[in-house]
Amino acid sequence: MTKATYWLEHAWLGDRVEPGVLVETGDGRIGAVRTGASVPPPGAEVLRGLTLPGLANAHSHAFHRALRGTVQIGSGTFWTWREVMYSVADRLTPDTYHALARAVYAEMALAGITCVGEFHYVHHAHGGTPYADPNAMGEALIAAAAEAGIRITLLDTCYLSAGFGRAPDTHQLRFSDGSAEAWAERCAALKERDHARIGAAIHSVRAVPADQLATVAHWAEERRAPLHVHLSEQTAENDACLAAHGRTPARLLADHGVLGPRTTGVHNTHLTDEDIALLGGSRTGTCMCPTTERDLADGIGPAAALQRAGSPLSLGSDSHAVIDLLEEARAMELNERLRTRTRGHWTAAALLRAATADGHAALGWDEAGRIEPGALADLTTIALDSVRTAGPEPRLGAETAVFAAGAADVRHTVVGGRRIVRDGAHTLVPDVPRALAAAVEALR
Ligand SMILES: [Zn+2]
Repeated sequence: MTKATYWLEHAWLGDRVEPGVLVETGDGRIGAVRTGASVPPPGAEVLRGLTLPGLANAHSHAFHRALRGTVQIGSGTFWTWREVMYSVADRLTPDTYHALARAVYAEMALAGITCVGEFHYVHHAHGGTPYADPNAMGEALIAAAAEAGIRITLLDTCYLSAGFGRAPDTHQLRFSDGSAEAWAERCAALKERDHARIGAAIHSVRAVPADQLATVAHWAEERRAPLHVHLSEQTAENDACLAAHGRTPARLLADHGVLGPRTTGVHNTHLTDEDIALLGGSRTGTCMCPTTERDLADGIGPAAALQRAGSPLSLGSDSHAVIDLLEEARAMELNERLRTRTRGHWTAAALLRAATADGHAALGWDEAGRIEPGALADLTTIALDSVRTAGPEPRLGAETAVFAAGAADVRHTVVGGRRIVRDGAHTLVPDVPRALAAAVEALR
């Protein structure tokens, strides 16, 4: 890949805003970072605003984007929402999924997201019949990310049962490989690429029988790959797990070797003190998805207590009710304020760490999420002169970005040293709203 020099009007260096920073890139990585460049040198690419490391969206189901708006009519619960979600899943094919995911990942790039963790479970054709390429759906997602210019960790998801001791229902047949062994065999055929890594996921303790959890954990362990799992999002899951196994979902995962530093629990909403100690003590990560958790009336997870116990935090837009990592970051803090009636549980720097370095680490990209030599050259520039962000001193750029800015303030996105978004326009997908509309319409 070609070399380039970027001039950052203001750069977030992890602990401070630095004015006038030169970032040299080559072969997709940052070569040098020089401070004290008050004006852009000739030939430099100018990034005006506050440049952050690229944002990591650690939890996505791309097809849920087709539900936006339509699921806001009427009342219900997570479980009634799930019925609507399944009806969209029923209509996906490799082609329609590719078109939708390409548009959704382009929306993510416009929101400053440079890497997505796709928690992928719609594997097979109707009735569970494999496609000619059994990984056709996963390959469609990997190709979509490449075309949208972002990185992906395909978290290929094992999904085998409708509940404890219950065979998959009609909708879920598309998700199931029949056994964890068969899941492992299919996933072994997925190849990593420059922009794509392969990880594993356990849909939930509802969807993978206890005696098959270790097979998935072992697959991830052998490859040193990330392993994600939806955990205790709903109290009904906890109740059913207690009834079936006499222990909480977190305890069940611990007992089958699922927890550890490469594992991330997604949501971690309804936990006991012992669960929090298990997750923190094993350095299992926590991916909070606050905009989805509030949309689905899940509840507020104990993110602060989890982090204190030792669980690193990441953030995801999950159901894509909105795609805005800055909103996810501030929502985590603001939820905690509402619950505790006190302010300041996380600094803006800590929230940005969850959205950048720790999010990337949860997806197996430890070399991304920092503006420093050797890191991947992934950058996101937030306008500091928009109607939302104008006013504060530049040294308060992190606070402004997290607590006032949104996806609409993302001006530039650079992935691997290449400009994917320039002045708010995607450079690879010419009309992202139109691509989204067409892809959603095709599933209606
Ligand atoms: Zn999810």
